[in-house]
Amino acid sequence: MMSKRMLLLAGVLLAALAVCVGCREEKVEAPARTELTVGVTESFPPMAFPGEDGTFTGYDIELAREVCKRRGWQLNIKVIEWREMEQYLARGLIDCVWAGCTITDERLERMHFTPGYLRNEQVVVVREDSPYHRFPDLKGKVVSVQAGSTARDALENTPELRGILKEILERSISVGAFQELEDGHADAVVMDFIVANYAIQRDKNPFRILDEGLAPEEYGIGFRKTDAALADEVWSTLLEMAADGTIKRISEKWFGSDLSLVPGFYTKDKR
Ligand code: GLN
Repeated sequence: MMSKRMLLLAGVLLAALAVCVGCREEKVEAPARTELTVGVTESFPPMAFPGEDGTFTGYDIELAREVCKRRGWQLNIKVIEWREMEQYLARGLIDCVWAGCTITDERLERMHFTPGYLRNEQVVVVREDSPYHRFPDLKGKVVSVQAGSTARDALENTPELRGILKEILERSISVGAFQELEDGHADAVVMDFIVANYAIQRDKNPFRILDEGLAPEEYGIGFRKTDAALADEVWSTLLEMAADGTIKRISEKWFGSDLSLVPGFYTKDKR
């Protein structure tokens, strides 16, 4: 027979165990999310850029605002160094990168992406009055690109253009590369079609896009590898927004037509 003292001890031990199990359960259950911090480039119109009053606006920003509204999260926008996006994610400074971020095999190795939500292409932009029409016309010329961007990758992967250039200037943002074109420091810029087209059509910049493109690509929202569940939550909200016509409305506002790919697909699946 167990003595009274032994019984008491067993009881105490059981109670302690129960408390411990309780503790563990509490720890496992993460607190409900209250905000989403989105990493963007300083200026990437029409995807994410400061409007006249300094507040960020654009296609991606409007999508992100609506997703956050529907999930009950506060939206925080943080300007990042584009080439350091993975470090910003790793250090917990942002929850995702959402500003015309191209899905690439290299990024997929270290980041988790939603399916592609918009098609883009890397293109060559020149001054409207310049004599450049085809890649060979840029022999011995200077081209400007955004550092750490897929424009840089596309140029490296297009030897027939890369190989004939005199110099490549790297700028931290692609609209900075535009400035080099305007100032005459560069003869051409390699950049996202979405941004170049907006600059020409909407902002009436005196630029021209060469017919020959470099690389088709897709934009996705990039998360930490460990945040696949968060990515799914954002994506399912975008699906809702596609179904009720919200994305169509935002797309028509920024692009003049509905270009959205939602429900999208990975670049990889397309190949
Ligand atoms: N689409 C390009 C990339 O992902 C540039 C995006 C940006 O500067 N915001 O590298």
